[in-house]
Amino acid sequence: MHELSLAQNILETVRQNVTADELSKVREVVVEIGAFSGVVAESLKFSFEAITSGTELNEAVMTIVDIPFCLKCNDCGSETSTEIPMMLCSICGGINTQILSGDELRVKELKLAEE
Ligand SMILES: [Zn+2]
Repeated sequence: MHELSLAQNILETVRQNVTADELSKVREVVVEIGAFSGVVAESLKFSFEAITSGTELNEAVMTIVDIPFCLKCNDCGSETSTEIPMMLCSICGGINTQILSGDELRVKELKLAEE
């Protein structure tokens, strides 16, 4: 399962960013998922909860931030956001485009419990 290994990577990132003492204080893991990343947010969340259940991270919840798919057209200069990820400019129909956002999968923020 793709999302399970992604959840394990995220767990690893969390472990690298907090000290051993802080691990049990993590309450929220904010993850950015781009519309074009191919990641199923609900599935990732479920996997994360499954692998953290019964560990120091038992109380940590994953919050997903959806990043829209945005393209910049190098021909007409338009920046467009589309529902369907495709590399075609919806303004001029050109294919000389670059992805501005939408392919990310990253841990944006860790929120720890207050002392
Ligand atoms: Zn264009």
